[in-house]
Amino acid sequence: MLRTHAPPSQDLFDVAIIGAGVVGCAVARRFALAGARVVLIEKGSDILSGASKANSAILHTGFDAPPGSLELDLIKAGRAEYLDIRAGLNLPLVTTGALVCAWNEMEAGKLEAIAAQGRANGITALKLMTGAQARTTMPGLSERLVAAIEVEDEHVIDPWTAPLAYLTQAVALGARFLRQAELVEGRFAGEWTLSTSTGDVRALSVVNAAGLFGDVVDRRLGFAPEFEIRPRKGQFVVLDKAAFAHVPRIVLPVPTEITKGVVVCPTAFGNVLVGPTAEEQDDRVRATVETETLEALLERGAQIVPALRAMPVTAVYAGLRPASESKAYRIFTRPEQRAITLGGIRSTGLSAALGLAQHALSLHRAFDAPPLVPVEPPPVALPNLAETRERDWQTPDHGEIVCHCEMVTRREIEAALASDVPPGDFGGLKRRTRAGMGRCQGFYCNARLAQMTKGRLATALAVGDGEGS
Ligand SMILES: Cc1cc2nc3c(=O)[nH]c(=O)nc-3n(C[C@H](O)[C@H](O)[C@H](O)COP(=O)(O)OP(=O)(O)OC[C@H]3O[C@@H](n4cnc5c(N)ncnc54)[C@H](O)[C@@H]3O)c2cc1C
Repeated sequence: MLRTHAPPSQDLFDVAIIGAGVVGCAVARRFALAGARVVLIEKGSDILSGASKANSAILHTGFDAPPGSLELDLIKAGRAEYLDIRAGLNLPLVTTGALVCAWNEMEAGKLEAIAAQGRANGITALKLMTGAQARTTMPGLSERLVAAIEVEDEHVIDPWTAPLAYLTQAVALGARFLRQAELVEGRFAGEWTLSTSTGDVRALSVVNAAGLFGDVVDRRLGFAPEFEIRPRKGQFVVLDKAAFAHVPRIVLPVPTEITKGVVVCPTAFGNVLVGPTAEEQDDRVRATVETETLEALLERGAQIVPALRAMPVTAVYAGLRPASESKAYRIFTRPEQRAITLGGIRSTGLSAALGLAQHALSLHRAFDAPPLVPVEPPPVALPNLAETRERDWQTPDHGEIVCHCEMVTRREIEAALASDVPPGDFGGLKRRTRAGMGRCQGFYCNARLAQMTKGRLATALAVGDGEGS
């Protein structure tokens, strides 16, 4: 049976964090390492139930972030910390580098300014190239390429295991993770009483990391809204692993005012993404895909890397960015009520999460709260899912293979189900193991997975469930 904690209303936590996206998980880790008693409150049945379940998985350098912005500082801090801790947590880094590609003279005319901005942002490993030079570093690019900037330090990571590692480390330090607990109302009277759908939680301070519901949660905490979430959808096509050989680098377009644009990008799992789009919508939950848009993405991908035209599609999906009326992160602190809002973490949150967590802790230091005594990071190493490194099936005695497309062993599935932060639903199991994420999208292994997970997920897997990608 899934281990869930009943709301510990008798306990008083130093910090309650609302929302277990990548930001909330990183904040939970940072406060736990600082010595705080931490509770992470999540309305979904698993972590990454919102924006963080679907992104491009790029660990950004910040070369194109707004100069002088807090976002830039936090991307750089988050990236630096990821590079520092990743080996200890057994997290991958695919050292792809990126090419910002200009496909006509007008775009090429913008590259000099983009490179200058990157250097002003402190990113020095940038090189302007002709189209021919760029193609020597990635021969699969179309001959139509006019010019490019190489950004050496843009990399790809595993977007799901990283936040899981952050929370696992927090839990190893005693943090509590409450799932299926929606924050309904918060009242501050010297300390916070947070009413959730499964009971009350008491805490001295609160951090709102509710992503797509950041403004709603601020209101529920009794604050006049200072920002408004305007969800921005991004649709993706996932191409088969055969495409990976043609896309060794992240291929970025020259960005527009609204979006970083459509990217062709290898993943840590050995396939290739084409996307995302940038579409405003009101719905904060449903992210649908549309055939016409997906076909346009495929066409764009093939114009950039012609060999992609022949590649089969493995999956399609869409994610929602917690964008707001402003381009800037919407970060507010209310020292009187010991409350911090980390809102509007739009399109760089995976990269900046650890930086945002450092920032939240530094804001918390100004609060009238008992001093925290930092603790040593406990040793935590997550299972590797990256194709660029050894997987479990390549090690001795791996036993039964359950998912043959992604070569997922029964041992990996059992370990995920028995872990300190086990999956709460089938999507969570897929993100922890890759089972059902390959070519057949679970057609062959779902029945076996349903059998193995029976009674062990908050939301049971129905055979034929094609959730996620
Ligand atoms: C298409 C796309 C591509 C992207 N590409 C990249 C990239 O390549 N690199 C990068 O760095 N970033 C990227 N991003 C951005 C990144 O994914 C986001 O910035 C990040 O996921 C935001 O995380 P979050 O924790 O703030 O929000 P969320 O992930 O939305 O987490 C908030 C959590 O709060 C929970 N919650 C909400 N309301 C309540 C409540 N009342 N009570 C309890 N819990 C609640 C939700 O269920 C959710 O789990 C991309 C995003 C998208 C959509």
